[in-house]
Amino acid sequence: MLLNIEQIRTDFPALHQHVNGRKLIYFDNAATTQKPQAVINRISEYYSHENSNIHRGAHYLSHKATEAYEQARKTLQQFLNAPDDRQIIFTRGTTESINLVASSFCKKFVKPGDEILISAMEHHSNIVPWQIACQDHQAELKVIPMNDKGELELEHLSTLLTSKTKLLAVTHVSNALGTINPIKEIITIAHKNGTPVLIDGAQATSHLAVDVQDLDCDFYCMSAHKLYGPMGVGVLYGKESWLEAMPPYQGGGEMIKDVSFTKTSYNDLPFKFEAGTPNVGDVLGMEEAVKYINHLGIKNIAAHETELMDYALSKLGSVDTLRFIGTPNERTGVISFSFNDIHPYDTGIILDKLGIAVRTGHHCAQPVMDFFGIPGTVRVSFGFYNTREEVDQLIEALEKVRIMFS
Ligand code: PMP
Repeated sequence: MLLNIEQIRTDFPALHQHVNGRKLIYFDNAATTQKPQAVINRISEYYSHENSNIHRGAHYLSHKATEAYEQARKTLQQFLNAPDDRQIIFTRGTTESINLVASSFCKKFVKPGDEILISAMEHHSNIVPWQIACQDHQAELKVIPMNDKGELELEHLSTLLTSKTKLLAVTHVSNALGTINPIKEIITIAHKNGTPVLIDGAQATSHLAVDVQDLDCDFYCMSAHKLYGPMGVGVLYGKESWLEAMPPYQGGGEMIKDVSFTKTSYNDLPFKFEAGTPNVGDVLGMEEAVKYINHLGIKNIAAHETELMDYALSKLGSVDTLRFIGTPNERTGVISFSFNDIHPYDTGIILDKLGIAVRTGHHCAQPVMDFFGIPGTVRVSFGFYNTREEVDQLIEALEKVRIMFS
């Protein structure tokens, strides 16, 4: 089904504003997506009529909020095709999901001399938690290299995976390059070595259908705000056997069964990993965002975005002195580039003056920038509400930037 983009855009109030006297063109979707009115309304509705602390209350509002919160867990379970809603842990987002596993899994399973394997194209969120865990447990961090196209060199994978490799953590889609990694293949290879795999799905869930059972990943992490939902909320999916075996990440209310000064027993999944009062309003906003995506159909979204990406790549390719950073065969969402003699920041500032929002800099992926020997890139990232006309205006604006600095 072809999406009616003009119609869809009317659902997004933030898209209908002027910036610096120009109609806003929003190409910073990899940083965060705009929110449809339905998501904004859902959060407002919760605070207007349902606000109550969940799970323990005896009263009407508490039951209502608890029911809504647990229904959201089921919606997210279906979205990721997880076998059971007990495997859906609500977190603050991808960063917290990764930190939870890095802290809890490593405490139980990583010993001095062991190794954690990541890749050369990870976001800082999928590097630093593992560095901290490796320091804590005297383990070593190993890295799968990438090539000049911005694709992982998987021929090294089987030698990098050893009996010491306790976990492999890799991104589904690179936020700096747009590369879609062949994670199913990576997971199969890692599992042959007996190594569980965590997938950083922050950049994937808004562009690709994710089926954690088909992937057979051990952990999958996502953030609602990259998915047209609210900020500061997300999901950790985990295989039940790992989640059962892992110790709690944080202590507090909700995550316990019984507490005394001498002994505490922990709650069942998923509550064992949800200490304290949860972010109920934003979990409901996240559910609404998933419903919105489901309504459009992720396959329809992918078809529109692929067409737009191909169009943008061919147009950008004809801009003089523009150099793509990363030319992977499989990509989604993101195009990174720079001009030979213009600092990305200067390009970003001028585009902003023309009403076009892009991101410039290292995109929280400094090792990627080091690999390409550059301080940063200009990153254009797409959502399903972007159009060819907006790409045309970007190209016009980039021509202005180029002429201004030549
Ligand atoms: N991983 C990737 C690939 C990302 O793009 C991001 C967000 N830029 C994160 C992790 C962290 O997500 P969050 O800030 O929502 O926790």
